[in-house]
Amino acid sequence: MKYISTRGKAPTLGFDDVLLGGLARDGGLYVPEPWPRLDAGAIAGFRGLPYPELALRVMRPFMKGSIAEAALAGIIDQAYRNFDTAEVAPLTELGNGEWLLELFHGPTLAFKDMALQFLGPLFDHVLKARGEWVTVVGATSGDTGSAAIEACRDRDAIEIFILLPKDRISEVQRRQMTTVLSANVHNIAIEGTFDDCQDLVKAMFNDQPFRDRHRLTAFNSINWARVMAQIVYYFWAAVRLGAPERSVAFAVPTGNFGNVFAGYAARVMGLPVSQLIVGSNRNDILTRFFETGAMQIGEVHPTISPSMDIQVSSNFERLLFDLEGRDGGRVAKIMAGFRKTGRFTVEARTLQAARAIFDGARFDDEVTKNTIHAVLKDSGLMIDPHTAVGLAAGRARRRNANVPMVVLATAHPAKFPDAVEAATGVRPALPARLKDLFERKERCAVLTNDIAAVKRHVQERARAKAAA
Ligand SMILES: *Cc1c(COP(=O)(O)O)cnc(C)c1O
Repeated sequence: MKYISTRGKAPTLGFDDVLLGGLARDGGLYVPEPWPRLDAGAIAGFRGLPYPELALRVMRPFMKGSIAEAALAGIIDQAYRNFDTAEVAPLTELGNGEWLLELFHGPTLAFKDMALQFLGPLFDHVLKARGEWVTVVGATSGDTGSAAIEACRDRDAIEIFILLPKDRISEVQRRQMTTVLSANVHNIAIEGTFDDCQDLVKAMFNDQPFRDRHRLTAFNSINWARVMAQIVYYFWAAVRLGAPERSVAFAVPTGNFGNVFAGYAARVMGLPVSQLIVGSNRNDILTRFFETGAMQIGEVHPTISPSMDIQVSSNFERLLFDLEGRDGGRVAKIMAGFRKTGRFTVEARTLQAARAIFDGARFDDEVTKNTIHAVLKDSGLMIDPHTAVGLAAGRARRRNANVPMVVLATAHPAKFPDAVEAATGVRPALPARLKDLFERKERCAVLTNDIAAVKRHVQERARAKAAA
């Protein structure tokens, strides 16, 4: 399988180089060329398969000519062994043809684990095969850091450094990172804000000799392999609800557009997806786009669904590339304009093509809380604020009541206990695997907001120290 850039200028690459390389050299994102297709017979054959086996069949065309099938099966088994249910992603019925797809059974209680638990062993495998290693660095405001740490812990070919703003993240979030005592995991609390942490990470990446010496890399949401691993559960859910004979609608709480783009990919591959509903909180750049055809950056507002407090949805460029007929030159022009002015618009027929598949809806924190409350009352189920935004959007925009609708439940309610308690009066309990979180030993360095100190710290703990 070959991969091309959405901006048309970067070299065509194979899967391994796309995995390790991240952003394309022309600033674009890599996408498969062509999209692999699965016919109805192949999809019907997914029925009854365990999650790892189905994952292998959905993902293997993307890695054709790269990772051997037996090795890939081993990596997938490792990835999903850490989930607290053999089903990996259970489907729960809400009534009225509404279903919750629970994507929060991984080690950090959010859907990021669905992809990152796979990315860790996949990176390790590809790096070892090449005799290479990398240093993952990242800044976190809470959630992504723990998912990245759980993905990388105890991996031979990976060293990971995560910067977190000291005393500015919740204790549960901090402990999910600092209680991982693996030798290759390094938590650094910075005396500063999340933005300070991000600036420090950027400064490390911008120091080319430092970046090269330590082979810095990021596990960010534009990595193609993350999208790829997310395609699997769209097939998993749809097949259980009658695909390929029956179509299925999906409602997805959306930030960076990675999760819902995976649903689009499943549809292009042949899954009968009738519609994709994008749920936004007050940060509604995507909903406004689907309403007007204009993508216009606004201010970021903090909400009770913080993992969607985003203004630029970086994975959207992958959809734009297809909407614009896979014309990289055109996408490059649009994105250059967007960078300059914070705005772009698409032609009426492009918007129409997007709207044939996508709907969007936005909800404020009040509706989000009411939705959490109503679901507990009606079904006895607790949902988290992100899931509530997705469900509210699904209920508002569902086109056909006879087509089952799957709402992606992206976090465990105990991950956002304050919001859930405010909505319901009940504080959700941590699941069994985290029951002793508050008794576990922590390890975390504390550094001032000073790039020289941070670099020294990394240098002293990194693999390249002997060479420096
Ligand atoms: C990251 C995240 C989202 C948003 O997913 P995108 O792929 O960025 O659209 C939604 N809910 C939760 C809980 C998340 O962690």
